[in-house]
Amino acid sequence: MRYATASVIAAGLCAIGAGQLLGQIASPDQLEAAARHDTPSLFQSCLRELEPQAQRRGISAALVARFRADLAPDPDVLAAVQSQAEFERPIWDYIDAAVSEARISTGQARLAEWAAVLAAIETRFGVDRHVLAAIWGIESSYGAVLDDLGVVRPVVRSLATLACGDASRAAFWRDQLLAALAMLDGGDVTPDRMTGSWAGAMGHTQFMPTTYQSHAVDFDGDGKRDIWSIPDALASTANYLRSMGWRTGERWGYEVELPPGFDYSLADETTERPLSSWIELGLRLTQDSPISAAEASAVLVLPTGSRGPAFLLLPNFRAILRYNTALAYALSVAHLSDRLRGGPPFARSWPRDDRMLTNTERKDLQTLLAKLGFDPGTVDGKIGPRTRAALRRYQASVGRLPDGYANEALLDHVRAHP
Ligand code: CA
Repeated sequence: MRYATASVIAAGLCAIGAGQLLGQIASPDQLEAAARHDTPSLFQSCLRELEPQAQRRGISAALVARFRADLAPDPDVLAAVQSQAEFERPIWDYIDAAVSEARISTGQARLAEWAAVLAAIETRFGVDRHVLAAIWGIESSYGAVLDDLGVVRPVVRSLATLACGDASRAAFWRDQLLAALAMLDGGDVTPDRMTGSWAGAMGHTQFMPTTYQSHAVDFDGDGKRDIWSIPDALASTANYLRSMGWRTGERWGYEVELPPGFDYSLADETTERPLSSWIELGLRLTQDSPISAAEASAVLVLPTGSRGPAFLLLPNFRAILRYNTALAYALSVAHLSDRLRGGPPFARSWPRDDRMLTNTERKDLQTLLAKLGFDPGTVDGKIGPRTRAALRRYQASVGRLPDGYANEALLDHVRAHP
């Protein structure tokens, strides 16, 4: 079972932008060195520099000092943040693991068990209970990992480690650390209960501390906003999705089949058309479901190009992406919500025989595209919208289907046609 890590971080990062790096940043080597010695360390001096900021936020000085005294950096957290995968995980692997049979059957049991609370949440926030249950299942296996001390770790220690050890995002982590201290200071949660992922995501639906501050609600009526309480966590998630533009009564989107001879340049992830207008182009829903939101604007996305499933994504999908910006994540939430409702697996299969490009190969592809005059943006090994657009232009120029999908066959083709 893979524990959710960086949920809500991406949304948080977008909001924060280019923050000023405050105070002294210890390098990971220095932190590890500090962890081995009990002399006053860079880590402690970095934390001490945060104290005036904590004071300005009204966090009690005694609480901050007490925490600082006991803290040492967590080497596992540093290892997690530094690990950069050379091998990309195929989207089908992610979805298979996130939407397993066990996850579906447990989720259906949880939906029955919590039906009254979920009905009340739907009434108040207008967010579909199956989507809430899917997020709960994917973020914490319906809470099963929250008591697993092999998985969760103290949030303040993790965030302090990141705030003083991850120089590239120090401002973000410091904001999270201060928000976590404010949560403790406010008395909504006790220190021993405040555990989470290495990135500081907490509770049943893995809120980051700043998201807790902005969107957590008390739904079980005990006067505390407590995301380790199931009703509070599910209602807080509904509240978050609603603020991110959730539209009551609409779906996340549909899996669709494309008509023969379809113009793949329309699947460029930016072309928005009303759902009804896509249907007029000959796209067919793979499930026999009534069309909701016919006039809502939809984007056509083919995660693995012409050889895999195609999806028309509606505004509610964008709200899910605000929880975690990874397409694989949002598609897993969307699909699990359908499966919990009793829906079928995707109609079209994934190209499971495709080998994913390594980071080095992805950079190689970007370099070659740039040389050929198809600007892929920064050569960073990340196949984002700009690289996919360059790929589409390249594919169109050589008479291939312009689906923007980077696989081994495409890299071979680019290498062979310099
Ligand atoms: Ca509560």
